[in-house]
Order: sequence, then structure tokens, then C-alpha cells
Amino acid sequence: MEEIFAVGFAAVYLLIILGMPFVWGFVCRKIVSDKGYPGNMNHGFLWGFFLGLIGVIVCACKQNYVDPMLYMNNMYPRYPQNYPGGTQPVNYGQEYQQPQSYQPVWVCRSCGAHNPADGNFCSHCGTPRE
Ligand SMILES: [Zn+2]
Repeated sequence: MEEIFAVGFAAVYLLIILGMPFVWGFVCRKIVSDKGYPGNMNHGFLWGFFLGLIGVIVCACKQNYVDPMLYMNNMYPRYPQNYPGGTQPVNYGQEYQQPQSYQPVWVCRSCGAHNPADGNFCSHCGTPRE
């Protein structure tokens, strides 16, 4: 009877020892996928499988995944969808025209109106600029 228990415990123990790498692997894979990595770029399982807790730490320190297309658009803001309210057509080959709201303005200290940069008096209440 005791032998059966001993064999049983040994089997469970062996199962845990052999199973731990898989557990770490799935934990790491989950961490990496939570950071937005697509499946084909998710190597978390291997990190966890071979390195266990160290792999988890490595995966936890990974930066959030940045979509390459999104990155390109941020580097080349010519594409109008990166501007607020910007879906107007783009003339390729020309510099992107900034929307009107991006032109520099000064704020009236009396009434708070936004005025064009080249004016010296508030267009709303007539207060001098400075
Ligand atoms: Zn004013």
C-alpha cells in the first residue's frame, strides 16, 4: 500500500517538475501578448520554457509592441489622418499644409479671445496686445 503512494507521489512530483517549463512558457506568452505583440512575434513561450522566472522578468520588461505602420505614420506625418479633423486630400510632392488651427495665435489678456499672430490689437475687444 505504501509503495503505491510512493509511486503516486513520485509521478505527481515528476509531472510538476516536467510541467513547470510549460507553465512558465504560457505565463510568458500571456505577458507578451498582453503587450500587444501578434502571435508570430511572440517568443514569450520559449523565454518562459527555458528560463522560467528569468524569462517572465525578461517578458515583463519588454516594451509595448508598436505597430510598424503606425510608427511609419508618426515618423512621416504628411498623412492627413494624423491631424485632428484631417481627412482632406493630400498633394503628394508638396509639404503638408498645416490646418488653420495650428497657426500661432496670441490670447487676449482682457477677454481671452484668440487673435492672429500679426495683429497688435484684439479683434474682439480692441485691447492692445501687450
Ligand atoms: Zn480681447
